Amino acid sequence: PQGVPCTLLAREDVAVEAEAIEQLLQLLALQDTLDDLWRRERAGSSAPFFGDAPGRIAQVVLTPDFHRGASIPVGTVIDARGFVIPAAVGSDVCCGMRLLATDLRAEELVPVRARLEQRLRAIFFEGQRDIPLSPRQREAILREGLPGLHATRTDNSALGIWRRYDARAQETDLSRVHAGGGFPTDGVGPFADYIRASGARDGRDPQIGSVGGGNHFVEVQAVEATPLGATAHDWGLARERVVIMCHSGSVGLGHTVGASFREAARRLHPAGAPHPAHGFHVLPVRGPHAAEGHRYLAAMRAAANFAFANRLFLGLMALRALSDAVGREVHGQLVGDAPHNLVWALDEERFLHRKGACPAPGSSPENQGPFRYTGHPVIVPGSMGDASHVLAGLGNDALLASASHGAGRSLSRGAASHVDEAAAARALSPLRVVTPIDPNSPRLRGRPDILAAYRARLKEEAPYACKPVTPAIQTLEEAGVAAPVARLRPLVTVKG
Ligand code: 5GP
Ligand code: MN
Ligand code: MN
Repeated sequence: PQGVPCTLLAREDVAVEAEAIEQLLQLLALQDTLDDLWRRERAGSSAPFFGDAPGRIAQVVLTPDFHRGASIPVGTVIDARGFVIPAAVGSDVCCGMRLLATDLRAEELVPVRARLEQRLRAIFFEGQRDIPLSPRQREAILREGLPGLHATRTDNSALGIWRRYDARAQETDLSRVHAGGGFPTDGVGPFADYIRASGARDGRDPQIGSVGGGNHFVEVQAVEATPLGATAHDWGLARERVVIMCHSGSVGLGHTVGASFREAARRLHPAGAPHPAHGFHVLPVRGPHAAEGHRYLAAMRAAANFAFANRLFLGLMALRALSDAVGREVHGQLVGDAPHNLVWALDEERFLHRKGACPAPGSSPENQGPFRYTGHPVIVPGSMGDASHVLAGLGNDALLASASHGAGRSLSRGAASHVDEAAAARALSPLRVVTPIDPNSPRLRGRPDILAAYRARLKEEAPYACKPVTPAIQTLEEAGVAAPVARLRPLVTVKG
């Protein structure tokens, strides 16, 4: 429709909901709005907006986990020319996946499972989350991401979780994190309050290291199969090895950016011109309003930098829980870390938006870096009751080098919370899930209200709310987007 080239990666055996297609059509109709703005601008019936050329959606790709989202569908990649769409990144800026391979074998965890769950709960939810940050460190993180964190590590190196921060290992890891772990920016102005951290107790950071609600998780998994053995070996993914997968983003900081710039884009919309559907307002990055688009990008990057640091600390916290559980120091080697909600500035004109889709760059022998012969790791979680996968990107530029970031939802949160109790109990009871509430705690006996709230939250994210992940993985392989490297099975999941 609207002459926008659009590719949906879906096998015939995967259902795509009508509501998701409906949302997609509304997004594509944005091109009509842009054309209309350009006509008005040319005719002089509204003030200059784009400047020299109209805003254009050059291409859209929908990944195999494509499904209905809050405004834009999840699994959407947009190649936008001359503008950015804050709603197409959403509120969880730089939400992403981080994967660590440990030196632990799955069988070592079996006898200490209960202790591991207890340690995970204590560290993530019961006051043992101990990540002190100085104002200088907060600002360094927001400006640079992981390199800024690294440069200021001595501020706190003897305190809390910092004692697990191995400077040498972290330096090596930087080349395995997407974009080197940060997007340099001076757009830290909107976060002055966070940098001062008025609400912090004993120097502990109030936000960093929180899993966040909903689909976010930290999961301890075991490598179950390695279809691409050489690459798996290269990445530290031996069979039956324990790995840690972290899914989180920029929590409160991203929310600030998403909400304030969606509103800024709405206000910038020329008076009298019809508005786009669903708040898909745009901010130009050239012409008279170029500064607006660039202000968004600068703030988005600061939130993104926070998200990289957030995932780094989640990984360190999980390693601490594993070490406590087995009674020896467990080491983690980074496999990869990449965002799935972000805008990438490819050049002055091209702005690649990925909403619930991750980058899948291929090998590049001409470049430096640990992935130059393997392609970059693509991390695709399934659900807490299904396998997750690691693939190697193939750099398929015709499909905007983008892959699924999950299995995709089959039931909306509302529908999933209405699944009947007996079916939910069957689906949830074999799972090992650590949540802020311990359902077995004696303190909660006689508090059915709290337990019911806990059950409802878990039901919304239960395995039956997710599509099976295997067809999505097959689609990525058949479309030449990424090649499967390792299959992972869940052992324990931490949900916020
Ligand atoms: P999103 O970023 O869209 O919130 O979620 C990404 C994907 O994470 C979902 O599509 C789903 O496949 C996956 N997912 C959600 N919860 C869990 C979980 O507890 N464990 C694992 N392994 N995957 C999950
Ligand atoms: Mn998120
Ligand atoms: Mn996410």
